[in-house]
Amino acid sequence: MPALDTASIQFLKGVGPARKKLFANLGIQTIEDLLYLFPRRYEDRRKITPIAQVVPGEWQVVLGEVAAKGGRRTFFNKKHVFEVVLADDSGRVSCVWFNQPYLENYLHPGNKVVVYGRAEVFNNKLQIISPEYEIINDDVEGLSSARIVPVYPLTRGISQRYLRKVMALALELHAQDLLEVVPPEVRIRHHLRPVAESVRQVHFPDDARAQEEADRRLCFDEFFMFQVSVILRRRTFLKKKGCAHFLPAEFHARFQQAFPFLLTEAQRKSINDIAHDMARPFPMLRLLQGDVGSGKTVVSFFGCLAAVANGNQAAIMCPTEILAEQHYHTFTAYFSQGPFGAVRTALLSGALKKKEKAALYARILSGDVDVVIGTHALLEDGLEFRKLSFVAVDEQHKFGVKQRALLSSKGDNPDVLVMTATPIPRTLCLTLYGDLDVSVIAEKPKGRGEIKTYHFTGEQAAGVYRRVAEWVKKGTQAYIVYPVIDENEKADLKAAVEMYERFKKDELKGLRVGLVHGRLPADEVRIVMDKFKRHEIDVLVTTTVLEVGIDVPNANVMVIENAERFGLAQLHQLRGRIGRSEKSAVCILLGDPQTEEGKLRLAAVLKTVDGFKIAQEDLEIRGPGQYFGRHQHGLNELRMVNPATQLDVLEAARQEAVDLVNSDPSLNAHLIIKNTIRKRYPEYLKRVLAG
Ligand code: ADP
Ligand code: MG
Repeated sequence: MPALDTASIQFLKGVGPARKKLFANLGIQTIEDLLYLFPRRYEDRRKITPIAQVVPGEWQVVLGEVAAKGGRRTFFNKKHVFEVVLADDSGRVSCVWFNQPYLENYLHPGNKVVVYGRAEVFNNKLQIISPEYEIINDDVEGLSSARIVPVYPLTRGISQRYLRKVMALALELHAQDLLEVVPPEVRIRHHLRPVAESVRQVHFPDDARAQEEADRRLCFDEFFMFQVSVILRRRTFLKKKGCAHFLPAEFHARFQQAFPFLLTEAQRKSINDIAHDMARPFPMLRLLQGDVGSGKTVVSFFGCLAAVANGNQAAIMCPTEILAEQHYHTFTAYFSQGPFGAVRTALLSGALKKKEKAALYARILSGDVDVVIGTHALLEDGLEFRKLSFVAVDEQHKFGVKQRALLSSKGDNPDVLVMTATPIPRTLCLTLYGDLDVSVIAEKPKGRGEIKTYHFTGEQAAGVYRRVAEWVKKGTQAYIVYPVIDENEKADLKAAVEMYERFKKDELKGLRVGLVHGRLPADEVRIVMDKFKRHEIDVLVTTTVLEVGIDVPNANVMVIENAERFGLAQLHQLRGRIGRSEKSAVCILLGDPQTEEGKLRLAAVLKTVDGFKIAQEDLEIRGPGQYFGRHQHGLNELRMVNPATQLDVLEAARQEAVDLVNSDPSLNAHLIIKNTIRKRYPEYLKRVLAG
């Protein structure tokens, strides 16, 4: 049998070729992958609520037998309702599901069922609404009842019970073969249990404490390895040969001359950090953190000019076309003539025709273009630079580590600046971005007007639109934002499009109203945005394409529709689009939050405009697990989703990793670690551990 990280899960009894494919949908190929598929939550089925004691409003686990079932349609809107009556020794309760008619084929009288859900009183009757359910007729293994039961992320065709069974088998046969990667002395120092035991406890914990302990151990492991790889990467990176940019003493003053405003203290400090890095003959890798509206863009321009002044090229990569266009316009406004002469700038849009693109590629390759601003289009294979020595990645949390690396590879170890408006507490920043240097812009430009935020219910919307019309008639511009979860979903866009039509005829009659959303062709978006910028449009109806970066200082009113549907960070980003001039601004949240969480989110946005405080609230409301979702930080390499819960563990693991690399930089005395890192983080560490 091959090692666990190469042994296919087909080695396991009960996993055939068909199931193997299904597992692949969960990202699982090997037995090791399977053992590291951690539960998304647990259900304590030692605490079953007797049916007679079910109370409304609370989440509870109920165990009973199906006594009756039936499907029907509601009288008014013809929704399908499936109802099951569940009975135990103490009483009966009904469970209902909406619009899931197929459930009729699954649940039958006589089935023994565990349900997990919340009860509500409806027509004087207690009902459990759309609970998760599981049939446990023949739970001979005892994996699904009377214990703390793991609940896994699933894919179609794989059920909880099946997965538990396969997992139990894999644990029994293979857990003892899992490698201990953390050195023994480190394990002793931090009281870490053996890895096999920890993995077992994570799946089928004896009790809550054992589960926490196991979690801590595995978190330590993973983070330790990740940190070792980050530290090695940084070491190698720092030794690479980069471009030493020469910047004459008056360069900073000349840069300042380009702008009609004074750079803030914080901007100047970040610029100094960058100038210092860029002057050295090693590549820069720096994160620029600053709240929305703090003026990060001009800081990135400094790097571009430093490159250009040295006869090289620069690139700025943005997550959306709108943002790329905006940066392009801002850049050309300041630098197509001015203290640095005529800087030749190009916009690389994904919408370019084949011929235009080829022509632009040729100019970039020959060095006829100094600065290229674009979207993901910058990553395309055919694009080559003559000499790229500075790249900036805006809103970097929208990109992954790979994309950042791909852009850099277009130059010869160019200096890299990545920017983000997602504030991250300092400790976390160090641990998550251990391979980056960090500059923070903590102040906003002076003289900005105040942003006032209000909340109105959906019923009050008409009055709100009336006020918006009045304000706009006095000369300001406004955004009306609709929540669109998936810009590819036509249904989601409907509300925005319909309201746009209605506004024109009705509430905002006589005003110039525009519409942008993610499904419009880039050309059309450009035309509308340009008009809005030139104040030829008064009110822009929009979706969350607006979220990142957009900067129109005369727009000082924003209405956010169904505000309860947005995440907290999103609301903050959106609101950051206004309050960009000396005039005061108004943000109106429209909506009727139903959940406690929704209410808390709106309350947080009403309370403060400070991004760091909002990030903190977000963490508290959502819990760190979701706040630090896998994709937010481009850390797709981490298997455990939740680095924020265990800050002390992270810090301890980081310190151990630093010590280890200091004492054994080649890792030749720690071959298990070396090999594991090679396997686990291949692209993160491509050449770092060669030989
Ligand atoms: P963000 O950090 O959110 O990317 P931007 O770079 O878009 O912020 O800047 C927001 C606005 O502030 C822009 O209109 C920009 O021109 C302006 N701005 C930037 N720096 C200053 C400054 N020092 N003083 C006044 N306005 C500034
Ligand atoms: Mg920005």
